[in-house]
Amino acid sequence: DNDLILYVNYILINAGSKQRYIVKDLLGQGTFGQVAKCWVPETDNYVAVKIIKNQPAYYQQALAEVSILSMLNQKFNTDERRHIVRILDYFVYQHHLCISFELLGANLYELIKMNQFRGFPLNIVRRFSMQILHALVVIKDAGIIHCDLKPENILVASSAGSDIKVIDFGSACLEGRTVYSYIQSRYYRSPEVLLGYPYTAAIDMWSFGCIVAELFLGLPLFAGASEFDLLQRMIEILGAQPPDDLLRDAQNTNNFFKQVGGIYRLEDEVYKDVIRAYCALTAEEYEAKECKKPVIGKRYFNYVNLEDVKLEDVIEKYPYRKNLAEEEVTKETLERLKLVDFLRGLVEFDPAKRWSPLQASRHPFITGEALTCPYNPPPETQQIRAMQTITVDHHNPGGGHW
Ligand code: ADP
Ligand code: MG
Repeated sequence: DNDLILYVNYILINAGSKQRYIVKDLLGQGTFGQVAKCWVPETDNYVAVKIIKNQPAYYQQALAEVSILSMLNQKFNTDERRHIVRILDYFVYQHHLCISFELLGANLYELIKMNQFRGFPLNIVRRFSMQILHALVVIKDAGIIHCDLKPENILVASSAGSDIKVIDFGSACLEGRTVYSYIQSRYYRSPEVLLGYPYTAAIDMWSFGCIVAELFLGLPLFAGASEFDLLQRMIEILGAQPPDDLLRDAQNTNNFFKQVGGIYRLEDEVYKDVIRAYCALTAEEYEAKECKKPVIGKRYFNYVNLEDVKLEDVIEKYPYRKNLAEEEVTKETLERLKLVDFLRGLVEFDPAKRWSPLQASRHPFITGEALTCPYNPPPETQQIRAMQTITVDHHNPGGGHW
């Protein structure tokens, strides 16, 4: 077909620079093509080479990925882009566009899976959140929307195991040039994309919120089996529905809602049984149904009652680690309250109210400050921006670096 047949010691050649890439392993495979681990003999380096299928649509999309990543690489210094994958080279080999990247390790989904879907301790959730936010500040600053943030597209840097980088700008676009309407992977899809409402960089912050929750829970927060199921879960867990003006102006509202006496009501009767059936499945049963990931359900978390799965409950009632000392339990409880408050600003239906990366990075969950009342970020002005730069670089309560 449109793939190259790759085998160990197969050599890809950049005809321009005469650089050779010797295939050593296959790292990933997708609709776009394949990712190979390659050895560069001249520098004795290992890199990841994404080899795009020989088809015009993929070629164009991959060229956009090259230009966006090159722009990020040029515009920002090493420190600023330390949580974004580095593009090293690109070339055409036998009609295939090839892009070489720094070699990274496992992705966050694999990490969650290795941990048996039990979720990570809060200090790790915080550390990863900080780093993804750092990348998102830079991405938004460049006027880019990533459009496909999810655990699979966040990779652990191979050397330092606890440092992560955002990859896969294959769906990314410039803010203000939002051409496609069918974007983002379903579990991480924002309400405005789902409903067909003009979208902005705020869609990445929705996905980010979903990822933070998943890092803690070990399971996706909104594991919608369909778009309808997805919306139904959002409404259940967030305890509200999207604001009326969004529903009024969105293109797909009628696919989901019926207007009764001027009030939008989810058309749910038909779907209720299907949704209930899915929610009652165990993780294993759900996977057996060829769904990609297990789901938060009645039997998986036996404390969760389908009728009142609220965000607060999902986080606060998540089983505590065993053998915690009393003061550790108190600390954990306080941290969980912070996490709920943090998530509330991210999985916010109204994209205009959803926090920006800078606003989110000043939240007590990230800064380590005490949370006395719900966080209310100041508007994003130049002044806050300057202050934030200082906070981001030097205030470092998590113990690690960004
Ligand atoms: P797609 O657009 O098909 O999702 P990605 O860029 O996400 O393509 O790459 C697909 C997979 O290849 C990733 O999920 C990851 O497992 C692997 N991969 C991609 N880039 C790298 C890299 N720099 N280092 C190691 N593995 C990578
Ligand atoms: Mg990907």
